[in-house]
Amino acid sequence: MKCDGQALPRSAMAVLLKPLLKPHPAPVEPSSYAAVFQSFTGKSLLRQGKQLHARLVLGGLSPAAFLAAKMVAMYGSSGDIDSAARIFNSAGTLTPLLFNSIIRAFTLYKYSEETLRIYSRMHSLNFRADYFTYPFVLKSMADLSFLSSGKSAHALSMKDGLNSDIYVGTSLIDMYVKCGELAEAHKVFDEMPLKDISSWNALISGNMRDGIVGVARKLFDEMPWRNIVSWTSMISGYTQNGFAGDALQIFDEMRKDGSEVKPNWVTITSILPACGQSAALDRGREIHCFAREKGFDSHPSVQTALVGMYAKCGSLPEARRCFDTLNPDAKNLVAWNTMIAAYASHGHGLDAATMFEEMIKAGIRPDGITFTALLSGCSHSGLVDIGLRYFDAMSSMYLIEKSPEHYACVVDLLGRAGRLSEAYELILRMPVLAGAGVWGSLLAASRSHRNLEISELAAKRLFDLEPGNSASYAVLSNMYAEAGMWDEVDKLRDRQKSQNVKKNPGCSWIELDGKVHFFLAGDASTDKINAFLEGLPEKMKASGYAPDVSCALHDVSEEEKERSLMSHSEKLAVAFGLINTAPGTALRVTKNIRICRDCHTAIKFISKAYDREIVVRDVNRFHFFKNGVCSCSDYW
Ligand code: ZN
Ligand code: ZN
Repeated sequence: MKCDGQALPRSAMAVLLKPLLKPHPAPVEPSSYAAVFQSFTGKSLLRQGKQLHARLVLGGLSPAAFLAAKMVAMYGSSGDIDSAARIFNSAGTLTPLLFNSIIRAFTLYKYSEETLRIYSRMHSLNFRADYFTYPFVLKSMADLSFLSSGKSAHALSMKDGLNSDIYVGTSLIDMYVKCGELAEAHKVFDEMPLKDISSWNALISGNMRDGIVGVARKLFDEMPWRNIVSWTSMISGYTQNGFAGDALQIFDEMRKDGSEVKPNWVTITSILPACGQSAALDRGREIHCFAREKGFDSHPSVQTALVGMYAKCGSLPEARRCFDTLNPDAKNLVAWNTMIAAYASHGHGLDAATMFEEMIKAGIRPDGITFTALLSGCSHSGLVDIGLRYFDAMSSMYLIEKSPEHYACVVDLLGRAGRLSEAYELILRMPVLAGAGVWGSLLAASRSHRNLEISELAAKRLFDLEPGNSASYAVLSNMYAEAGMWDEVDKLRDRQKSQNVKKNPGCSWIELDGKVHFFLAGDASTDKINAFLEGLPEKMKASGYAPDVSCALHDVSEEEKERSLMSHSEKLAVAFGLINTAPGTALRVTKNIRICRDCHTAIKFISKAYDREIVVRDVNRFHFFKNGVCSCSDYW
């Protein structure tokens, strides 16, 4: 007999099968079959299991509950859930063991509803759930976010004293975490007399999920021992909550000599987005090398994550190189979307469109994310007609529902091209209510085309939609000031005060020698940076660059305006980079909000005057400054 997959030792199998495979079998005890089915379970021996099943049928034996349970387990573990269900349904007598077998099988296939249907049948027959029932039932409840079912399962398990069991307890924690009841999860955890790593891990990922990073860290530090899941949950949790620096630090600890657990491919897919987030290209490259050394780079998820990392770090050629060398099974929708978005955010709209056509040719069906990337690519490159055509095709050809995000892209597309009233009309025709994203696009566009009327319309909607956001107040206020409408400026300021609007502080960062340096707008910086920036306006003016004071507060003197502009975070980061690197080194700066017009002008000037390539990634896109011009052609 040839074995697929993980083989049972031949000798053991022979002993087990001997009495069953005689040409004229003497009547055999069904329990002999049970032992064989059990030995097949979990070992991918489906073919052998089926042969044995056939013999049983030929011998006229119909399995009793015990044997049926073993058969269900064998089929369930070997990928034949239909046969498992058939045996369960045709069993004459039902027992808790048989219920547990089928519940486990359905859970394995993530048939959560089916699992719970069977569980309630078990319940209605007055069978007690046990250690082997609850973990699977709770998992299904967690997957479906059935909190009230979860609570009653919790209560029942307590009645039988099972809630203190490690597996049941850990499943309860996981269920509460996934149903969003973190406090309950903590309670179960605290009440467990014995915990294992999974109990700690479940609670850590729950806290990370809810953004309670500090508690997650405390649990991690207090754990008596940790496994790869614990480490990797911390890394992905930090990354998802925007703490890229902490994620990288944990990753470094894992790689130290003598660390208890070493990174695996899952760790790599979790850490690469952290590099992307902080635009830490050098770290990303170094982690790529590490992955290659360890052979993790052949894993499809790692390959896709590499494409994303290079794209986010602003290295389009490396992103493309990784994309081109993807395994065929890694070239999935996610990978294509990542590459289309990469071209889009670098302002290569035509390349994004070409990529999209190639993807269609490769037989990959686009989704909503594809079109968001594609449309924003068209918008950033001024490809109005192409963009409108895709917007049309997405519902008529690809049957994808248009989301507010897609509308925001098209409003942006029309708005940038100065077609403001068309953009406004499109918003009015939207089948869904326009959100802040859509009105924000219109405001930005009407701001850059200095259309006060439409700016007012858009800003007023935004005041209602996002009462706490200072950005729309600032835009409208500056426009009023430019038009000399001081009464309106005052009214706006009063309104802003009464609404208690807070400013979103601008923050930029730059990576030097693997370390990320942060700068807040108005930060007290070093003398060297100050001296550099103070001399900048004069130098710029001498070369014909005028500071754009419309980006500063309007109610201060011109000189003060220039000074406040000089303390913008992106200028601080660029100056820091310039001072601390060798001539000719490219600088990469990331900013948490949109780059302002004045900084854009200043950095163009710096790129020429100091002969540096400077890449600024703002919240919308990449700007590549070189020799006095920017890749966005001042269109962003
Ligand atoms: Zn600025
Ligand atoms: Zn630019």
